[in-house]
Amino acid sequence: MAAEILDHWVGGAVFTGESTRTAPVYNPAKGVVQKEVRLASAADVDHAVATAKAAFPAWSEASLAKRQTVLFAFREILNARKAELGAILTAEHGKVTSDALGEIARGLEVVEFACGIPHLVKGEYSENVSTGVDVYSVRQPLGVVGIISPFNFPAMVPMWFFPIAIAAGNTVVLKPSEKDPSAAIWMAEALQEAGLPDGVFNVVHGDKESVDAILDHADVASVSFVGSTPIAKYVYERGTAAGKRVQALGGAKNHMLVLPDADLDLVADSAVNAGFGSAGERCMAISVLVAVEPVADELVAKISERMSGLTVGDGTRGCDMGPLITREHRDKVAGYLDVAVTDGAELVVDGRGIEVDGDADGFWLGPTLVDKVPTTSAVYRDEIFGPVLSIVRVQSYEEGLELINSGRYGNGTAIFTNDGGAARRFQREVQVGMVGINVPIPVPVGYYSFGGWKDSLFGDTKAYGPDAIHFFTRQKAVTSRWLDPSHGGINLGFPQNG
Ligand code: NAD
Repeated sequence: MAAEILDHWVGGAVFTGESTRTAPVYNPAKGVVQKEVRLASAADVDHAVATAKAAFPAWSEASLAKRQTVLFAFREILNARKAELGAILTAEHGKVTSDALGEIARGLEVVEFACGIPHLVKGEYSENVSTGVDVYSVRQPLGVVGIISPFNFPAMVPMWFFPIAIAAGNTVVLKPSEKDPSAAIWMAEALQEAGLPDGVFNVVHGDKESVDAILDHADVASVSFVGSTPIAKYVYERGTAAGKRVQALGGAKNHMLVLPDADLDLVADSAVNAGFGSAGERCMAISVLVAVEPVADELVAKISERMSGLTVGDGTRGCDMGPLITREHRDKVAGYLDVAVTDGAELVVDGRGIEVDGDADGFWLGPTLVDKVPTTSAVYRDEIFGPVLSIVRVQSYEEGLELINSGRYGNGTAIFTNDGGAARRFQREVQVGMVGINVPIPVPVGYYSFGGWKDSLFGDTKAYGPDAIHFFTRQKAVTSRWLDPSHGGINLGFPQNG
């Protein structure tokens, strides 16, 4: 029997398009292809953009109350049926059920933020800036906005953007990851059920060809991208060269700095949760623990002990950790363990060949702990994006801080200490966009904005929260005078206040 093919969603209906290219979508816990996904051509993207453009005039004219009503209804659907969406995430991404539900909950926060759109797009008003002259500002939508998302959060990352984009009156073309594309279609159907007019939210599946078509399209006003750093940089440069506003969030290598006075049990729990949750395939995962001596030996013992209790397997079976996304990615991550040994690090816990509660063909790699990692090693420098936690030993706070600040990424970081002064100093001195103090994964709540510094974000605008209102609207300033009959007559000078 031919595999099911997942099509695009354009104009409120399934859209097949002209492209016959497809890519496999795996169930990573079973190692089998469960469906194929259509890969759009430039012409298919053009059709989606034209549809979104046609829907824009009516949607941007829809009242704030109407837009808010749709978002509230979407929130209700998402909440009531999150188990359905969670099952899709587990089947295509592999993350365990509880983690899939957590991802949806974080997306829901942004939907809830967007429900407040009437308040969020309020302008400013200054009366009588000059005699009889008022100035005020309004925020208006951009038009068609593009969203390009990664495999690791197939529901949450699109929800970082589209609820606010839509609430602000834009229409959307989403290009989700081709590795786990079904969540996007589920959300498109849910938005339709919530009363969103057809054509406001469209999904095109694809790879580089469709991304390039979005970046080059004259009718796409902005691009919100999340993915690896090389592609984020490429998207930023090509999109801005085409005159669009672009926010492009990239990769990460997040460090946790542990001072000797920290609660080491809390540190060990946090390192295990943040290092191995979602098999380390999180942009906010902790991948390096920087231990200020003399605590490293004790920490390695506590972390290894906790790791021995972790269960790895099919995400539907109540395990702690699922598989990696593809066989190639699993092999690439496992390859770093050889590099670690060659480079002189100590492989304390080796995740290869662990027993799993799942199919033998799944893309498995167990939690791995590598101690004494040289900072010259690729294991330290590269974003591995898997369940590999590195320990680097330093002698002082200053040495740890310098290490963190010398890296190319600046997404998230954390300090663990009981010294308020040290924590405050770290918060001020660290060159990273999101900082945790005794919190390992400091993802900001929905009413703050999410984003890193340096090679973790190209552009000046973070995701969701207040930055998103700025990104998805254009501000217009209006200077208004209702003339009385005695206006000043002809004056060619530049207007002055008075
Ligand atoms: P990726 O860069 O491979 O893909 C991201 C998107 O870009 C996908 O939609 C993909 O189809 C598209 N793409 C891939 N190659 C392309 C190319 N050559 N030209 C144009 N488009 C291309 O990333 P991924 O593997 O899906 O996701 C993991 C990466 O995302 C990690 O680096 C992770 O750190 C990062 N990430 C960052 C954040 C953040 O907030 N900073 C959040 C989640 C994930």
